[in-house]
Amino acid sequence: MYDFHLDDIIAFVRSKNARTVALQMPEGLKTHALRLSDQISEATGARCIIIGDPCYGACDLYRNHSAIADVLVHLGHAAMPSLGATDRVLFVEVGLPFEIEPILKKAMPSLIGRIGIVTTIQHSSMIRPAMDLLRAEGKEVFVGIGDTRIHHPGQVLGCNVSSAIAVAHEVDTFLYIGSGNFHPLSVALQTGKKVVVIDPITNEVRELGELSDRILRQRHAAIARSRDVQRFGVLVSSKVGQARMPLALDIVDRLKKHGRKGDIIVMEEVRPEQLLPYEVGGFVSTACPRLAIDDQMRYPKPILTPQELEIVLGERSWDDYRLDMIDG
Ligand code: SF4
Repeated sequence: MYDFHLDDIIAFVRSKNARTVALQMPEGLKTHALRLSDQISEATGARCIIIGDPCYGACDLYRNHSAIADVLVHLGHAAMPSLGATDRVLFVEVGLPFEIEPILKKAMPSLIGRIGIVTTIQHSSMIRPAMDLLRAEGKEVFVGIGDTRIHHPGQVLGCNVSSAIAVAHEVDTFLYIGSGNFHPLSVALQTGKKVVVIDPITNEVRELGELSDRILRQRHAAIARSRDVQRFGVLVSSKVGQARMPLALDIVDRLKKHGRKGDIIVMEEVRPEQLLPYEVGGFVSTACPRLAIDDQMRYPKPILTPQELEIVLGERSWDDYRLDMIDG
């Protein structure tokens, strides 16, 4: 089903006269790694090296690629313009095309008023057909341009929905094309608009109301558990597109101002067992914003976002709850 743009990869490897090619991809594509490696090697004569570490986004670009290979082919994500470009890296946006008309027709009764379209990179090729179909139904349609963390109009990341925010004032309902709940939840919470999801994997149309309430209840509980915490671990990721040391330093200063303490802990990948040695009452994560929201149940101590810590410290009210976002 996936389109790996093999011809583009082969042309890139040849154009760089590369003898070694590092392949980086998210977990969901790794079952294709051996076949891709064979195909690239057979076509170019280059040796492929598969990077086995987890990869969650373009924020996770393998920094030491020049130490292991002549070029890096990063599959499954669009380039993040704010991280800058190198001519030794090729981003391959692995699309998952599908027939959008039947599911969009199913969603039509829920699509009220002016419509904004957002999606992840896997389905960005579906934006144009969705626009055409909605306009044929007489809808006004908007697709926003994001900030410099975002490559394509209408593209959203779990940590950045600036393309939705850019058109939110003109939109009554957002249509999210894709699977999972985190991205549409981010759009709903950051824009305050209704979001209708069409999920090509489950062939399901859904609205977010109940999920949004459940996650907010969980976040409220994590904040309540942190009210009396005196010492926090402040987590900083060393991944190139997640590292926010200035924010972590600011958090430590603010904790101090409120008579509490923060200790900065830097790690490449945050996992529950890595946090066990630290005798703190809770953590504040400046790494991927999804960590606190998606993975909290895996951690015995509360993990807050920076905005949630503001609520704990009385600097922000619960009514002004915001998800953590990383700007470009
Ligand atoms: S920081 Fe998290 S949400 Fe943002 S691109 Fe990276 S993995 Fe995705």
